Amino acid sequence: MAKNGSQDLGSGGFGAQRSFGINGRAYDIVDHTFDVIVVGAGGAGLRATLGCSQAGLRTACISKVFPTRSHTVAAQGGVAASLGNMGPDNWRWHMYDTVKGSDWLGDQDAIEYLCRHAPQAVYELEHFGVPFSRTEEGKIYQRPFGGMTTEFGEGPPAQRTCAAADRTGHAMLHTLYGQSLRYSAEFFIEYFALDLIMEDGACRGVMALCLEDGTLHRFRAHKTILATGGYGRTYFSCTSAHTCTGDGNAMVLRAGLALQDMEFVQFHPTGIYGAGCLITEGVRGEGGYLTNSEGERFMERYAPHAKDLASRDVVSRAMTIEIREGRGVGEEKDHIHLHLEHLDPNVIHERLPGIAETARIFSGVDVTRDPIPVLPTVHYNMGGIPTNYHGEVLTLKDGNPDTVVPGLMALGEAACVSVHGANRLGSNSLIDLVVFGRAAGLRCAETLEPNSPHAELESSAGEAAIARLDRFRYADGGTPTADLRLRMQRTMQTNCAVFRTGEVLEEGRGLIGEVWKGTDDIRVTDRSLIWNSDLVETLEYDNLIAQAVVTMESAANRTESRGAHAREDYPDRDDEAWMKHTLAWADTDKRTVTLGERPVHSYTLTNDMQYIEPKARVY
Ligand SMILES: Cc1cc2nc3c(=O)[nH]c(=O)nc-3n(C[C@H](O)[C@H](O)[C@H](O)COP(=O)(O)OP(=O)(O)OC[C@H]3O[C@@H](n4cnc5c(N)ncnc54)[C@H](O)[C@@H]3O)c2cc1C
Repeated sequence: MAKNGSQDLGSGGFGAQRSFGINGRAYDIVDHTFDVIVVGAGGAGLRATLGCSQAGLRTACISKVFPTRSHTVAAQGGVAASLGNMGPDNWRWHMYDTVKGSDWLGDQDAIEYLCRHAPQAVYELEHFGVPFSRTEEGKIYQRPFGGMTTEFGEGPPAQRTCAAADRTGHAMLHTLYGQSLRYSAEFFIEYFALDLIMEDGACRGVMALCLEDGTLHRFRAHKTILATGGYGRTYFSCTSAHTCTGDGNAMVLRAGLALQDMEFVQFHPTGIYGAGCLITEGVRGEGGYLTNSEGERFMERYAPHAKDLASRDVVSRAMTIEIREGRGVGEEKDHIHLHLEHLDPNVIHERLPGIAETARIFSGVDVTRDPIPVLPTVHYNMGGIPTNYHGEVLTLKDGNPDTVVPGLMALGEAACVSVHGANRLGSNSLIDLVVFGRAAGLRCAETLEPNSPHAELESSAGEAAIARLDRFRYADGGTPTADLRLRMQRTMQTNCAVFRTGEVLEEGRGLIGEVWKGTDDIRVTDRSLIWNSDLVETLEYDNLIAQAVVTMESAANRTESRGAHAREDYPDRDDEAWMKHTLAWADTDKRTVTLGERPVHSYTLTNDMQYIEPKARVY
């Protein structure tokens, strides 16, 4: 049974109450002990929760929103796996496309793991009960998606993206939540994780605030798995939910660990103009196309082979160039048209019903008659917490960049495995969630004995997290959180956009640094701990700003163009100097950032596939 843990903590094994005195105020703490704590109940967190509890490990899943409200629910287009239901396909072709999509920044051992295990992970979802759309013969329906090809890029587009109409994430998340309730995992729903508990470089658990009643909880575990999603909300216009604030990434920074490849932010070509809501790439997969003010299908000029189904970074840049050169549509000539009015209305009705509804509500367009106004919009974070393909978090120690941080794992959009490298292919995130969510469960089962004893925590464990909470709770400066957040979002939108230059990034570094400093003057008006959205938004803002700063710094540092990172002053990829991951540490007290690097793995997982040598990336 799932429980909202605030009422019944018994089976989690909670110990004595403890109290911290902070600034003369007493904060009571409830202690819990588990084998594994998963923070996040999106696709990645739920798949890991399921795997760990299935292995008999005492598992808790903490989520700030109800599990089925996690951003995974909004995923539309589908989940990639080389099932070959619609034509020949092969995991090696999927691997080639993913390596090329990543602009060779992805680690090929991890990419091989992803693509090999993808079909199995999708069949598992099917058996769990995901209501996939079907072909005439009753097989899982698969649609074409950007950058997915056959014959190592030489053949026609692959139909590889398994879809449940245009609500694939919704179907997956609801099914995974249902499945995870079959085992004995305990859910702590609407609990906001504050910070990791770190001792001697190892993770011992996490501190959390119960939003409903304001109680504070200290979770001790052998493994803590962060599956907290992306940080799209650092930008003004993004497709991700308001909850996508990258809290786990920020906890990692505060724990003194690095984030990886944060300069790589994906813009999705087709966010609705003005509203930012996503129109899935599945629309172009089903035959939709883009035009400029001259009615020209301009993608034919930029990607003669793949056209509208080129990789997302390529399409977003092409659209931006069209607009800049005066060929945008609309009164301000500042957006592009996406057409599907030529498609059979039955196809729209069966395979893209959600899109038709979204377009009607957010742009007033009947897609069977008129084009949808669209604009590239922030969509996905390739960067995040560095891990290996088991989901174990990595750090640079004694010269070894692949040193595992004991007790800490990361998954999903929060993690940087790195399978997506400099640019993620559409439908490769949902598959990443379930393949690596499953891998993390297997790793925990392999390395942990259920109910094995725990060392005592230091008596002060978690105190720093409560001190940070208290600081914001009583913050009485002059600037409301919303003002700082807006300044951050506008700065990122303007200074760290689809195209970047040294000058614009330099200005961005100054501006974003000012916002970061401005946090000292923040004002929170509600002092309670119960459903205090003012306080929670402030904690989220504080998480976001640290990630915004490392994103800007990493972008200014990388003097080449690769994948989603397009520098106008350095238009070419420079493998000699930059075939490496960026690492970024932030000292959140002193407000400084330190950059480092980690080599890209130039090897595969097995001999079934040789390392794919870098070459020019054309579609
Ligand atoms: C509109 C949209 C459409 C997309 N479509 C596709 C698609 O068709 N195919 C594809 O492959 N990818 C798609 N993506 C990308 C993909 O959906 C996401 O990358 C993926 O769902 C992220 O899953 P996740 O499990 O990592 O995190 P999320 O689903 O974002 O879940 C994060 C979880 O962490 C919890 N959490 C966060 N912070 C805290 C905290 N402080 N305390 C407690 N809990 C916390 C949240 O409650 C939530 O449960 C889409 C993305 C968007 C935004």
